[in-house]
Amino acid sequence: MGMHFPAEASWLEIDASALAHDAKVFREVLGSGVRLGGVLKGNAYGHGFAEVLPLAHAACDALYVIEARDALAIRAFEARLSAPRREVLVLGAVNADEAVELARAQVDLALTDSGQARFVPALRAAGVRLRGHVHVDTGLGREGFSVDELPSAMSWLAQARDAIEVAGVLSHFANTEDVTEQDYAARQLSAFDEGARRVRAASGAGSLVRHIAASAAALLLPQARQDAVRIGISLYGLWASSETRLSARALLGRVPELRPVLSWRCRSQLVKWLPAGSYVGYGCTYRCPVATRIAVLPMGYYDGYPRLLSSRAHALVNGQRCPVLGRVMMNHVVIDVTRAAQQGEGPITATLLGRDGDEQVSADQLAVWAQTINYEIVTRIGAHLRRIVV
Ligand SMILES: *Cc1c(COP(=O)(O)O)cnc(C)c1O
Repeated sequence: MGMHFPAEASWLEIDASALAHDAKVFREVLGSGVRLGGVLKGNAYGHGFAEVLPLAHAACDALYVIEARDALAIRAFEARLSAPRREVLVLGAVNADEAVELARAQVDLALTDSGQARFVPALRAAGVRLRGHVHVDTGLGREGFSVDELPSAMSWLAQARDAIEVAGVLSHFANTEDVTEQDYAARQLSAFDEGARRVRAASGAGSLVRHIAASAAALLLPQARQDAVRIGISLYGLWASSETRLSARALLGRVPELRPVLSWRCRSQLVKWLPAGSYVGYGCTYRCPVATRIAVLPMGYYDGYPRLLSSRAHALVNGQRCPVLGRVMMNHVVIDVTRAAQQGEGPITATLLGRDGDEQVSADQLAVWAQTINYEIVTRIGAHLRRIVV
């Protein structure tokens, strides 16, 4: 006999004090001379841009985004609250109209390739000057000018000084997370030094903000901290990798405590008994060996719960681990609550990611089960889900 309860979508809880704590961990490691930048790309790593913005804005000196519209949303937020303006930098690609809007809003832009020379006439026509940070590709093989390309890049920038002010220089590491030896990073750092020297010499700028470190390098490579760091994954309380965690222990003599910011919970759509021998889900991949009490959760891979978690992951109910039975479906996941749910208990609340009592399902654990990395687990959680700041 099934007990039906009204279906409700799953939701995310964003722990404001955890994010503040994680920022403080970095402030302590970095000391006062390094600016703390928070990265809000990817819908704030899936945590929700709108919900995270007030928290990150309070905790950080600078904010980094991929898209122009996110940068403009930060300026609108500041105007609404009469909050102080943070340095905001767009790391991603923009078009000429956006470049003009960014200049008007005093948002900085990463200068990544000579195709951006097309912004110059638009900036001149609008009578605005854009602040740019020259992105040097020191070995990631992604956006940015190689050290060898810098002389020609700097010459078009020199022609455009009225439209583009060079205010900074940045780069990005390729291989700080997957290793415990940082020799490739050391090569990138010396290329960055050379790149920054060339940019400074050619731009005539007195001081340039230099930044290269993301979460892992900010912790592990003191020489990489420079003027500012760009913290993404660890602002949300997650380690860039288990190697990063191990190396931090070796380097700092302790593992800084990062607190995960996000929990993902779901109210059951229904709880019912299935008799022994019943199958669960598409493909009949799971068969109940004994009578089994299941909870049907109204969420699935549409919401970003990976299908690779089929028959692998656990959810938590009343502080107990409950296996996912059979396949993760588009809008449904079935878990075994035989031991976890009380007889006659109404709808249950399952924790897909996060803590419940003494048990925890971490993004790292989900990533292992789903053969990916914690970044992808959190970033792919559907933007349509409700985020509640707690
Ligand atoms: C994503 C990103 C970061 C942040 O990286 P984390 O490993 O999440 O800290 C920093 N800089 C750039 C250019 C990035 O693309």
